[in-house]
Amino acid sequence: MTNPDQCNFAGCGQMVAASLDGEAFCREHFIAECYNRLGQYEEIRNGPGLSITNAESVRHFIHECTRSADEIEHAGLNLDNLEKAKLLHIILSASELGRHLRRSPRKVAAIPVRLTSEKLGGAWEEDTETVLVSRYGALVRCKHPAKAGETIQLLRADTGEQTLARVAWQRPLGGEDVRIGVEFVACENFWGLDWGVVEESR
Ligand SMILES: [Zn+2]
Repeated sequence: MTNPDQCNFAGCGQMVAASLDGEAFCREHFIAECYNRLGQYEEIRNGPGLSITNAESVRHFIHECTRSADEIEHAGLNLDNLEKAKLLHIILSASELGRHLRRSPRKVAAIPVRLTSEKLGGAWEEDTETVLVSRYGALVRCKHPAKAGETIQLLRADTGEQTLARVAWQRPLGGEDVRIGVEFVACENFWGLDWGVVEESR
């Protein structure tokens, strides 16, 4: 049984200051948990982008962490300058995350693609498919070790169109399956989707 007045962080036991997703934290661990989550979301959004499915939980987090950080800051109990600065930073980062969420719709779509890397000494080609697509890129299944920063060619098997993309992010999923996030180097509406409609239907 957890004591409702005590921080849920293992072995902490300090007084609760705020909660996130039903977990209660003391001030110190609330700040740490916010930084932790903001860092994770930052990593995702720099890579494949936030998917439509996790966008809802991110929205919920933004709302909760902003409100709690604001409350703690205004309660003003024994806050030192570093804590004040951290709370403000959390509020600003959450609001930036929220802006990004509104700007970048993603669509779950399995579009067949051929990836080609012409890396010197390590060229490869792979027929695969997308997991998510966005205006600016895609999350693609890829078994080859594509590293962040590499440029690869993307060919749509259905339309024959091709474009260059930069690998932005790579995540091992355990086993053989690895997904990479790619961003188009210069391409307008490669997926041929009406993003205004995608945006509205999220
Ligand atoms: Zn704690």
